[in-house]
Amino acid sequence: MRSEDKKRRSGKGSKHPASPLTPHPSPAKLILKSGREKSLKRRHPWVFSGAVANVRGEPGPGETVGVWSATGEFLAVAAYSPQSQITARVWAWEERAIDRAFFKERVARAVAQRRELLDGAATEACRLIHGESDGLPGVVADRYGDTIVLQLTSAGADRWREEIADALLEAAGISRVWERSDAEVRNLEGLPAATGPLRGDRQPTQIIVTENGLMFQLDLEHGHKTGFYLDQRENRLRVRRLARGGDVLDGFCYTGGFALNAAVGGARSVLALDSSAEALALAQANARLNDLSGVDWVGGDVFQMLRHLRDGRRQFDLIVLDPPKFAPTAAHVPKAARAYKDINLLAFKLLRPGGLLVTFSCSGGVSADLFQKIVAGSALDAGVAAQIIERLGPGPDHPTALNFPEGDYLKGLICRVARQ
Ligand code: SAH
Repeated sequence: MRSEDKKRRSGKGSKHPASPLTPHPSPAKLILKSGREKSLKRRHPWVFSGAVANVRGEPGPGETVGVWSATGEFLAVAAYSPQSQITARVWAWEERAIDRAFFKERVARAVAQRRELLDGAATEACRLIHGESDGLPGVVADRYGDTIVLQLTSAGADRWREEIADALLEAAGISRVWERSDAEVRNLEGLPAATGPLRGDRQPTQIIVTENGLMFQLDLEHGHKTGFYLDQRENRLRVRRLARGGDVLDGFCYTGGFALNAAVGGARSVLALDSSAEALALAQANARLNDLSGVDWVGGDVFQMLRHLRDGRRQFDLIVLDPPKFAPTAAHVPKAARAYKDINLLAFKLLRPGGLLVTFSCSGGVSADLFQKIVAGSALDAGVAAQIIERLGPGPDHPTALNFPEGDYLKGLICRVARQ
């Protein structure tokens, strides 16, 4: 796959060089319909297909275009995605060349911010680039020890792969970049999957990272996202601190993130559930790696298993629910809302008085407000009184740019069931 990609990519740089002599990097222009410049003026970085009146020039996928209002006002420099509903993603708000120097600057800024935000131990496994919120639409880069995993999900990001990889090596001082551009959203951009080594020769098959003192083995080739859910780092630590002495249930445990933190935090018992055999195998390997033998790992469907536990009158002091994205977009929301309601209702029923529910939604389509309403409905139907004692989100290496509310995908609540 990698060599095919190379062929596909070859000639990319030569076709569209950004000359320092031309202030505007591309003759191609997107002209918006009248009045459709409003969101760009608020610096929202997406141009939807319905807002475009016409395309001047013949830009190819990922090429740089100028975005102009119907009245001839310059708005932004953006990457063109002819196949996507999001026709263009903004690189910059001023007229400037998009070239190697641009990526060097943006990538260096993002990497430097992580150094300031996180302590040394946490930066061993952290997100270095978080897409739009770091001014790099379609680019995600995660650092796992001496390897960076790069995921490119837009035509624009895909086009500048080599420049981004070089900028990452330079800014992070790391020699290996592994590509995991196999996210489904690439289909919407008309991009084939691209995975494999981008820089450095060794295949990073056995990567182990330490997060807050716990070791995790990662499967960078097949694991979810780029191999790990880095966005839950701080929340896993929070659970470690809440778990002492209690019976803990980790629904949707993946490779054991919350369950192992509960075990190391001194839980009396930990039951961890997941439907993926591969995830559970890795979770068990992670338990061995950390010499934590007390976790009960069970495969199956959480919806069914929660019902079973309820029928068996099992009780827990702390339940973590970190399900997959039930609603990637607004269209999935009604069905997703029922799913969230269902699992949270069952969890409330399984908690002892005074017990804690740590519940998450990573659905872009479900706002924090809606999620809270759903969880409130769950408590009501479960017949329990509960309070929110903490609101959770991703760590500081997953920032949300204020002009990009879509970036605010992960929300969590810690709810305490009233003591009787
Ligand atoms: N909390 C984890 C990440 C969870 S990701 C961490 O911190 O690393 C969501 C997990 O839910 C995945 O491992 C997936 O296999 C699992 N999953 C999805 N649907 C499921 C279902 N219906 N029943 C059980 N597990 C499910």
